[in-house]
Amino acid sequence: MTKLFFKETYSPLTSDEIITKEKANMDKKRFEHCIGVSKTARKLAKLNGYDEDKAALAGFIHDYAKRVPVEEYRKVIKEQDFDPDLLNWNRAIWHGIVGTYFIKRDLEITDPEILQAVWRHTTADAEMTTLDKIVFVADFIEPGRDFPGVDEARKVAYNNLDDGVGYELAHTLEFLVKNRNKIYPRTLAAYNVWSVK
Ligand code: GDP
Ligand code: FE
Ligand code: FE
Repeated sequence: MTKLFFKETYSPLTSDEIITKEKANMDKKRFEHCIGVSKTARKLAKLNGYDEDKAALAGFIHDYAKRVPVEEYRKVIKEQDFDPDLLNWNRAIWHGIVGTYFIKRDLEITDPEILQAVWRHTTADAEMTTLDKIVFVADFIEPGRDFPGVDEARKVAYNNLDDGVGYELAHTLEFLVKNRNKIYPRTLAAYNVWSVK
């Protein structure tokens, strides 16, 4: 198994404890994806002068709440003061935004930059910090990803992080429109900022 170690976990938990909890909360394929995102985030951090260890941790935990049951999500949205409009969406949107609640609760990570990057990792946003961009892009181009355009996405993102964000949002919008999926307003707002030439 890939050895992961985070010098600073931003939590009272050790890096081994975080890895154990993460593994227990998802299937093997998702866990491998999270390792891929962690390594890719580390690489993007190095290229963009950001704290590599912090980026690697944020990437590792980004999908922690992907398998939380729908009913539990609905309950948390209602009880924890999340935007009630979230009830009109689904786990694809919830696992980042509402996933931050489970990360705070279970992994005891409270660092606002890390939580915000997880919050924004699916939809992106009009405003993005370097860490937000790193996690968003790493999720898309990690080595396990295989879809038409992924090589181009990697090339673009390693060359320029902002261009990587723009490429990814255009690709996601195309995919969502093609499938006649509802577009989350923040995804659209992000597209208008990062993808439009
Ligand atoms: P994953 O968790 O590693 O699979 O990747 P993401 O968190 O980036 O995406 C999860 C899912 O959310 C993908 O299937 C995306 O296509 C979908 N998604 C992203 N933005 C939107 C949106 O605006 N609307 C809808 N309906 N789905 C979206
Ligand atoms: Fe995700
Ligand atoms: Fe992911």
